[in-house]
Amino acid sequence: MVDVSYYCPRCGAVAELDRDPYLADKSVTPFPLEGWMYVSPADDYESEAADGVKFVCGADAAEWSHPPESDADGEPGCGEPFYLNFVRYENGEEVSGQPESEYVQLAEGMAPSGPQGPNGPGFSR
Ligand SMILES: [Zn+2]
Repeated sequence: MVDVSYYCPRCGAVAELDRDPYLADKSVTPFPLEGWMYVSPADDYESEAADGVKFVCGADAAEWSHPPESDADGEPGCGEPFYLNFVRYENGEEVSGQPESEYVQLAEGMAPSGPQGPNGPGFSR
């Protein structure tokens, strides 16, 4: 297990989570990605069913601390949810999980060159 720090995208509070190093982080977002299955840090986020972790800033079962530059007193966290997204694969391809991004496939512009017939008999000795 390793300790990994995640920063709230809203207030910068830091959550520390124990997790297996093999899990691949994709991103931390203030909103859930379409198609991702989130669990809370108290749940089994290392199970295969979980695609990410939903934190409630300052409130969940993680270690919370203030942003590095902050000298604020009291409990860290803004109480808003944010989302840690693991990398997901579908059919061996990484799922982009960015509903607002539009990836245009240009594969059709890559037309293969036509079949190349034999160019005559060539050299013969
Ligand atoms: Zn926050």
